[in-house]
Amino acid sequence: MKLAYREPSEVSGLVITDRDGTLIRDVPYLSRIEDIKFLPGVIESIRMLNDRKIPVCVATNQSGVARGYFSEEFLRQSHDHMNLLLQKEGAKIDLFLYCPHLRDGKISGYDRECECRKPMPGLLSEAIRYFGISPENAMMVGDSLRDVEAARAAGVFGYYIGTQTLIDQENVIRVDTFSEAVAHYLSQIESHVARRSSHVP
Ligand SMILES: [Zn+2]
Repeated sequence: MKLAYREPSEVSGLVITDRDGTLIRDVPYLSRIEDIKFLPGVIESIRMLNDRKIPVCVATNQSGVARGYFSEEFLRQSHDHMNLLLQKEGAKIDLFLYCPHLRDGKISGYDRECECRKPMPGLLSEAIRYFGISPENAMMVGDSLRDVEAARAAGVFGYYIGTQTLIDQENVIRVDTFSEAVAHYLSQIESHVARRSSHVP
């Protein structure tokens, strides 16, 4: 279910991000490698996080597996391809987590209720555990209200790229892009660090 590109270490933050419509162009049930296109500014922002040793983890619903549109192997190839594109620009995603399930799916073994399909917090909790960080130091960014709900359920701060009404606005803000979310998150971390060091006698 996961593909690690880097071992967890002592980290000061964690960016958990949706995939389709957040990092890459939204193609419904993307099933061709050549359709993978990073959105403007995303690669630069990922590199900025890499430089600051803040892990980047994808958490994505991929019910296309349960629906029989593509295989789990294709998903792995897609994620390898994303990292290949990033590598050319000196950037990388540290971990890919995905939910291949759907209750009414067609493919046996994937046609079940699970804890990992957003808005359930399973993938986010797994990311938090994997990197050994407390939820309040992590963030989740996505273009669906399911992402916002998953963030809330996992106790992490949410960034919502979208236009739907946020009923509960606590611990979530609206942004236009992944890059805007990352910039805000980094400014929060830096002001936190500054506050901490100002308490040193
Ligand atoms: Zn699942």
